[in-house]
Amino acid sequence: MTDLLIRNALGLDGKRWTISVERDRITRIVEGSKGPGGADIEIDAEHLLVMPGLCNAHTHAPMSLLRGVGEDMDLGRWLNERIWPLEARMGDRHLKAGMALGCLEMVRTGTTLFNDMYFREGMLARTVADAGLRAVLGEGFMDLNDEGKREEAIERTLASCKVIERLRDPRINGAIAPHSVYTVSKEGLEWCADEARSRACSLHVHLSETASEVKDCIARWGRSPTALLADLGALGQRTVAAHCVHLSPEDIGLLSSTGTSVSHQPSSNMKLSVGGQLPYPSLKASGTRCCLGTDSAASNNSLDMFLAMRAASHLCRHGWGAASITTREVLDMATVNGYRALGLDGGEIRVGALADIILLDTGHHSMVPGNDLVSNAVHSASGDAVRYSIINGKVVMDDGKVMNEAEVKREAAMMALDLLGGDLDG
Ligand SMILES: [Zn+2]
Repeated sequence: MTDLLIRNALGLDGKRWTISVERDRITRIVEGSKGPGGADIEIDAEHLLVMPGLCNAHTHAPMSLLRGVGEDMDLGRWLNERIWPLEARMGDRHLKAGMALGCLEMVRTGTTLFNDMYFREGMLARTVADAGLRAVLGEGFMDLNDEGKREEAIERTLASCKVIERLRDPRINGAIAPHSVYTVSKEGLEWCADEARSRACSLHVHLSETASEVKDCIARWGRSPTALLADLGALGQRTVAAHCVHLSPEDIGLLSSTGTSVSHQPSSNMKLSVGGQLPYPSLKASGTRCCLGTDSAASNNSLDMFLAMRAASHLCRHGWGAASITTREVLDMATVNGYRALGLDGGEIRVGALADIILLDTGHHSMVPGNDLVSNAVHSASGDAVRYSIINGKVVMDDGKVMNEAEVKREAAMMALDLLGGDLDG
């Protein structure tokens, strides 16, 4: 029995395909418009381009509530003067409203899986499930070298993992998420590494985002942030290290030998002027898997992965030459690489893969003409071209319509006003 049939969609290869979905998987792909009748839901995809859903490999989705806050500051001032004081005032209702808004933007712009690091992720898991998304949720772990704070962070992390486990939702997985080497003690990082290993879950960490992070870590511990994480057992096949824009050749060797995945956030790096650039050609040569993320809507200011693809492509070429990254590599960073980094069998249109699929309007101005469909997807489209988002075999955006959209936007506007009181600049 076919639960969902996508009939006669244009593939990225320029051919027409009919795709069957049963439960959470793609079960059949045939060329042309022929496919089994009697599906529960059938989408006539004659005017649609079919693509794998996108994976946002590093974000803080609830920060969508802080979009536009603390503009025109560098990372240190932005965090210390604006973001952290506001986060300290965020209650459950603010967090839920921010998460719902982030999920809405992701669904609308074709993201089907995201890797999140924030606070109260256990509570927020229900909001994510209600929005229909697939996610890996990690409770942000920070102890600022304080033993009391470390105990609190451990308790919060364990509580969040427990709630996510109890939810028993196949779309939602828990992760261990030490914020960074500059906000977590050695003991805290070690606990996180051990806990992720014993749970066989993802570990999500910021790594080598600024030159000062690297300089301070070397001054304090006599080694780079990457070497410190390696020593503490925090690198490995289930680790996603976000940013990695200040890496030495030795660091790249450690990432590659441990099978660690790197998530690149080009727009956030450029906007916050982090002063380095992802050494993509060296990472590629070393065999390190590179994924793509947006970072939060406070530092980007959008969760649209199509814009992230374009920024990644342009920034890489600007730094390393026009042939330093191919259009297909950028697409893989935003799809299958992210799924693999998070231990999930998706991000591809393939029989047996998770049914996380998006359909774009081939009549959207950014998709015309269709000279090179992969290039259109990476270099000219935005999330506006997405008409359908299918996640875990369910249609979550149906011909441009998402459930509860007006309500989510109203609540987010109200909660932002409550938090900021109309005061954007502090
Ligand atoms: Zn981040």
